[in-house]
Amino acid sequence: MSKAPLYKVPENFRDAHITPQKYQEMYQRSIDDPSAFWADMATDFLDWDQTWSRVVDYNFCKGQAQWFNDAELNVSYNCIDRHLPKRANQTAFIWEGDDPDYSVSISYAELKDEVCKLANALKARGVMKGDRVCIYLPMIPQAAYAMLACTRIGAVHSVVFGGFSPEALKDRILDADCRVVITADESTRGGKNTPLKINVDKALEGCPDVHTCFVVKNTQKDIPWVEERDLCYYDTVNWMSNDCPPVSMAAEDPLFILYTSGSTGKPKGVLHTTAGYLLQAAMTFKYTFDYQEGEVYWCTADVGWVTGHSYIVYGPLCNGATSLMFEGVPTYPDAGRCWEIIDKHQVNIFYTAPTAIRALQAQGDEFVVRSSRSSLRLLGTVGEPINPEAWEWYYHVVGEARCPIVDTWWQTETGTHMITALPGATDLKPGSASFPFFGVQLALLNEDGSEIDGAGSGYLVVKSSWPSQIRTIYGDHQRLIDTYFSHYKGYYFTGDGATRDEDGYYWITGRVDDVLNVSGHRMGTAEVESALVLHQKVAEAAVVGFPHEIKGQGIYCYVTLMDNAEVDENLRAELIALCNKEIGPIAKPDIIQWAPGLPKTRSGKIMRRILRKIAESDVDALGDITTLADPSVVEVLVKDRLSIN
Ligand code: ATP
Ligand code: MG
Repeated sequence: MSKAPLYKVPENFRDAHITPQKYQEMYQRSIDDPSAFWADMATDFLDWDQTWSRVVDYNFCKGQAQWFNDAELNVSYNCIDRHLPKRANQTAFIWEGDDPDYSVSISYAELKDEVCKLANALKARGVMKGDRVCIYLPMIPQAAYAMLACTRIGAVHSVVFGGFSPEALKDRILDADCRVVITADESTRGGKNTPLKINVDKALEGCPDVHTCFVVKNTQKDIPWVEERDLCYYDTVNWMSNDCPPVSMAAEDPLFILYTSGSTGKPKGVLHTTAGYLLQAAMTFKYTFDYQEGEVYWCTADVGWVTGHSYIVYGPLCNGATSLMFEGVPTYPDAGRCWEIIDKHQVNIFYTAPTAIRALQAQGDEFVVRSSRSSLRLLGTVGEPINPEAWEWYYHVVGEARCPIVDTWWQTETGTHMITALPGATDLKPGSASFPFFGVQLALLNEDGSEIDGAGSGYLVVKSSWPSQIRTIYGDHQRLIDTYFSHYKGYYFTGDGATRDEDGYYWITGRVDDVLNVSGHRMGTAEVESALVLHQKVAEAAVVGFPHEIKGQGIYCYVTLMDNAEVDENLRAELIALCNKEIGPIAKPDIIQWAPGLPKTRSGKIMRRILRKIAESDVDALGDITTLADPSVVEVLVKDRLSIN
């Protein structure tokens, strides 16, 4: 891994916000004197109604953390009002529709009006500070208005991804005890419509306490209507005053609940609070993306995921940035869509997920090279380990070897970036998320809980609290303690494994549950997958362990081929040879199954839990597959599994 090529900080990043020396100085101070460091950051990045008496108190054994205890502030004020003197006419959001002919710009002044009107409409329906509001919307500006309107009056939002089923929606509404839902008639993605309101109607059959449902007429589709409960968004909101004073919130008042993507089981209602979250979202946005005044920034995530929360809405707006929001998918009308959007809106910073990069790479370079992309200055990735092969393609083909890539490791629970390159400070190694962000103290642990010094591989843990840390699992604090603070006392347990190389770079090897143990050798699924995708015919690979009489665990590989690739007799042998060459004979795949598709969460992550069951031929115990993007791929894999021994 340490042999990986280094890409030096490019010349045009010499004046970045964070230079190598500044990173060292600031990081050191953030560890030596966290209270002083974070107090300075809190003063620089946020406007407060009342200041704090203590910066931080925490107790990992009890899963407790308190930042800026008695201070007060309002999130929507920090994201909107305070920018108005300078930025009233600046674009806050560029919204690009699914239909390539459709886009609009929303200025900070317009954003303020929309947010205040909706906040007043929520108040008129009895929503008060602390009440939970469910947002089930497509990627349209109203999703951001709704989040910010909640923060304006101190309501707690719970955004549920618009691709979730009525059942999944119902579970989340009940778990958070939401009484108000904000939705749309339909969403439009990739030219196809999804009936959101009909889903809500079904979900609400099991949610008797929901008394209000705002409906955005997005596609104007005729939909069933429940009098009293359902309100037309425009008709209601347009009547409201555009003046709604922001409510002063305590630093530790809840800001939002967000359910994790569910890769590993029952989703958890992660609760984030006001000040710490906003501070670290604002700070990571500015430093990780080296955001410069006037730049256009685009994150392709859905607002239903934490990436959409922190890096479409809160981080960019808190910095007075211009954030692009895209309703559609990267492959519609064709695989050139992202690059067209970049040219159309002169995007400078582009942030997406490895799953999207691999999918676009599989379609061939011609979709990329027909665009200019000359506005691009920086690229980013999040969500899964990025295979070096995909990284190189992103770097050379998309970025034309001129844009650094920030590979950002973090979780719904961490709220914001935890390990990432900073483009003016970090020499890049493809596939490594590189170094901890300011204030983040990491360790790698052995099985017995002892800390690994220097280079090595182990469980990735965090040693001290950070401002945007998860505060609780909504309604189940014990589950928080059991999940994150019990495995190793005094540490936050991430559930991920990592390697630290001789230069101190961190390489995420995958989830700990996914680690393979072959004849006593532990290896991450990510390593084997990265070797497999080096083959030019391979688009994507997922690796899991299965019981093996001699080795303890064998290596089972699901391999998806490039669009135009064919299986020939040699392919299997070539793939085995690749793993041998890249990792060693110990990584020899035992079984390779050709997979037309892989089971993924709606946020695009491979669900290895299900693949493990199929590999073990334990298909009666697949568990909940309703959160999968396309459950039908499972059937195909199960059927094909039967013909393999
Ligand atoms: P659940 O916790 O319900 O199983 P999830 O972990 O997929 O769902 P998220 O919080 O969205 O939900 O994802 C965080 C996880 O994604 C991390 O723990 C890590 O496994 C993976 N991840 C995110 N970014 C990166 C990255 N840059 N490199 C490697 N892995 C990453
Ligand atoms: Mg997780």
